[in-house]
Parts: sequence; C-alpha cells; structure tokens
Amino acid sequence: MRILVIEDEPRILGFLQVGLEAEGFAVDGAVDGIDGYALARGESYELVILDLRLPRLDGLRVLEELRRCRPELPVLILSARSDLPTKLESFRLGATDYLSKPFSFDELVARVRVHLRHTSEDDASIVRVGGVELDLARRRVTVDGVTTHLSDREFRLLYHLVSHAGKIVSRERLLSEVWGYSFDPGSNVVDVCIRRLRKKLGPASPIETVRHAGYRLAVA
Ligand code: CA
Repeated sequence: MRILVIEDEPRILGFLQVGLEAEGFAVDGAVDGIDGYALARGESYELVILDLRLPRLDGLRVLEELRRCRPELPVLILSARSDLPTKLESFRLGATDYLSKPFSFDELVARVRVHLRHTSEDDASIVRVGGVELDLARRRVTVDGVTTHLSDREFRLLYHLVSHAGKIVSRERLLSEVWGYSFDPGSNVVDVCIRRLRKKLGPASPIETVRHAGYRLAVA
C-alpha cells in the first residue's frame, strides 16, 4: 500500500513517514503543492495525505486538480485549519476525509485504514442497472462500458435514481435527498443537473422525464 504525504513542514513529514512505514505502508513525501500534485498524478498511490497551506500551490488547488485526473484516489486532508468553512470547502472539492492538527497519530492510521479498505473492496460496491454501472468506492460511472466522470452532485443524483430504478422520483424528493432542505423548492437545479447528467451519459442515457411527476431510471 503506497501513500503520498504532501507536507511542507519537515518535522511533520518526517514523523508521518517514519510512523506510517512502521505501520507497514510505503510512504513518499513531497514538500510543496506542485511536486505533490505531479507525484500524485503520475504514480500509483492508494492514498494521499494532503496539507492545505503549501508553498507553490495551495492544498485546495491540489485537491481540485487531483479530482479532475484521479477522481477515485482517496485524499485525506491534514491541516492546522480547523474552521468549518475550510472543512466544508475541502469536502465540496472532493476530500475523502479531514483531520485537524494537532492530530492523534493513532486516529490518522485508523482513518487511513478505513479509506484503504473501501478502495480494496470495490467489487462489493458496484451497482448495476441495465447498461449503467456505478462504482461507489471510486465514484465512477460507466454506461455500456464507457467511463464518464461525474461531479459529486451528479453522482449522487444518479445514485438516487439507480437506487429507485423503474420508479418515478419527484423533483422535490431529489431536491431534498441530493441538495438538502436548504434549497428553494422553486429552484430548477434538479432539471439543470439532470440535463448535464444526460449529456454526460450520452445517447444511452436511461433517465426518462415523467411529465408533471419527476424522473425515472428506465430498467432495460
Ligand atoms: Ca503547511
């Protein structure tokens, strides 16, 4: 199991490398955002531990870029910033987990093991309906064998439709399940997201519009 630690503080990086290696992981380190991103992108790591305040490229930008090219790679944020807006922004950008400094090393290892278990159990987390296949661990979707990368929201919307395949799901239901109750029920975010989803799924898209009722995922 190979882990990449992107951390500019030499003392913390050294501590993490020694500690994680003692736990049986192979660990590489990077001391700035640009090098970290290049390594994470090019090498086959199973997990990345990412600091946020980094020289050359901020951790959140590294996360954002990584999500584009390696959407399945678990990224655990380890940062001195413990404010809620930063945490929420990290999760919005696709962080798998967030741990604030100062941190407990045992807790870090426990979380790393949980995320690695999820990636290695991906056979158990594949949902198929007709030609659509959702890989929940890697958050990847294939339609008739062709891979499509979806945003978090699109993925959750599709997952909700797939979970209720063959049944009509109302816009209100999708709005509350996927966006939460804070959204204005008069908003058209559901329709906009469905349109994007259909475009990404291509001509084989199994999403049907049921007039005045909502949407349905057709069962082939
Ligand atoms: Ca730092």
